Amino acid sequence: MSNTPLIASPARTQAIINRYGLNIKKSLGQNFLTDINILEHIVQAAELSEKDNVIEIGPGIGGLTEFLAQNSHHVLAFEIDEQLVPILGETLSQYDNITILNQDILKANLPKVIKENFDQDRPLKLVANLPYYITTPILMNVLQSGIQFDSITVMMQKEVADRLVAVPGTKAYGSLSIAVQYRTDAEVAFTVPRTAFIPQPNVDSAIVTMTKRVPFDPAPFDERVFSKFVKGSFMHRRKSFWNNLCAIFGKDQDVKDRITNVLNRVRISPQIRAERLTIEQFIVLVNALHEEGLL
Ligand code: SAM
Repeated sequence: MSNTPLIASPARTQAIINRYGLNIKKSLGQNFLTDINILEHIVQAAELSEKDNVIEIGPGIGGLTEFLAQNSHHVLAFEIDEQLVPILGETLSQYDNITILNQDILKANLPKVIKENFDQDRPLKLVANLPYYITTPILMNVLQSGIQFDSITVMMQKEVADRLVAVPGTKAYGSLSIAVQYRTDAEVAFTVPRTAFIPQPNVDSAIVTMTKRVPFDPAPFDERVFSKFVKGSFMHRRKSFWNNLCAIFGKDQDVKDRITNVLNRVRISPQIRAERLTIEQFIVLVNALHEEGLL
């Protein structure tokens, strides 16, 4: 290994930006992590080993990618900004275990790309400092893709991290909390101050780790219907659950009576707010509404 300073050291990051006259695009969420200590903690939180295949989203100028390459078998990184591709080619030239794809992660066929680039028998991990403007769609795509990640370790805006791990009865709890906690055990590993980036974002950040959880039993009769119903239940957060149900099912009196019967049967008060319902309660309710022919 050469004596070149790490890409993520503040001096080298600034030198790379200057040398290439890099036009840093706020609109693409480009904030480069320049705290070596934090990068080491990310690698630890992901429990990376030489056996692992790693997907990274948004390598930027390669600061995190370098750490991933040093601590895993192979890194596959999706970067949307084509001006960064030749830069990455140079900053990461000493590593032979990195593949950079100039692709929008939201348009990529992830299962296909994984199949084409990775041997299937290795652990698969996702590690990324996400572009914050699309954190939720990225997470939803990844979680709903059915890809079996051994772990997901991602940095995001602290406020979004709080929503991911929120428990029922709190303001932060909502459809995103349920989508994540339905599939994974999610934890905030640590928080990261805005001063750790060049340029600094105007929010603080947090690293969240997600690992596959034991599936809920009973399971919802249909995951897509379940997700849609949960989303609808939180559509008007200030209104009661009943009002949200009316927005989902319409105002037909017969339908309303049947919903009331179902709610009685599963012992959920229509006056409750959706944010008080646990994932188990949502599943029981969705299955009961299905049995009643309403879903
Ligand atoms: N990994 C680098 C680091 O930690 O310093 C950069 C992280 S920066 C917060 C987010 C990166 O995601 C940027 O490089 C940005 O260009 C890239 N990005 C933004 N939207 C993307 C998309 N739709 N698909 C792939 N990459 C994207």
